[in-house]
Amino acid sequence: MNDIESRLLAIKEQIASHARQTGRQPEQIKLLAVSKTKPAEAIQAAYQAGQRLFGESYVQEAVTKVQYLKNIPDYADIEWHFIGPLQSNKTLLVAENFDWIPSIEREKIAQRLNEQRPAHLPALNICIQVNISGEQTKSGITADEVFGLAGIISNFPRLKLRGLMTIAENTDDLNIVRDNFLQMQELYNRLKNQYPSVDTLSMGMTDDMAVAIECGSTMVRIGTAIFGSREYK
Ligand SMILES: *Cc1c(COP(=O)(O)O)cnc(C)c1O
Repeated sequence: MNDIESRLLAIKEQIASHARQTGRQPEQIKLLAVSKTKPAEAIQAAYQAGQRLFGESYVQEAVTKVQYLKNIPDYADIEWHFIGPLQSNKTLLVAENFDWIPSIEREKIAQRLNEQRPAHLPALNICIQVNISGEQTKSGITADEVFGLAGIISNFPRLKLRGLMTIAENTDDLNIVRDNFLQMQELYNRLKNQYPSVDTLSMGMTDDMAVAIECGSTMVRIGTAIFGSREYK
């Protein structure tokens, strides 16, 4: 068994055990493997171990890997999520190559994606990114702005509103993290009541996965614990 395979199995076991401890079913929590900065071979290794959902953050790097792997028939059923910040001059590449964009925070970007999503592909799955901690360095909109943007997205025929995504405050204090995630859970439940297509609360990374699952996350985004630490050039 290779490193990636054994780490992936360990993460899946942790997800299952956190779920059971909080009275949830393990199947209620999807695992997004975050492969940014990692080579296509790492994605292939995770795929061989059964992983199908992958997340990328940098457009150029991501599109190179997606197109390379889409050309190999074995990998055709990967579900690609673009989880990074998206500028308007890059929306076409993302609309053509990805299945999900969980990092939407602006109407203009949503509008361009709606116009550019190719007709032969299904509607693009969208989550709104919420800056729940209010840190200035973080992407995302405030909780108050969510319903306005959700209303706009839900009217775009080539987009499908699936839910919310957040990154908790950058702190070792899990009580602060839990407070962030509980606010997200409350917001998510209100959104879900209003929009039947909403079924995804994306929160929890390598360091705060357990708290996120406790607070109702339906999708954890894990990079380091699967692929090892990242090196930036
Ligand atoms: C990089 C990244 C992750 C993965 O973080 P790890 O701490 O390596 O698990 C998750 N979500 C987003 C939005 C990211 O950019």
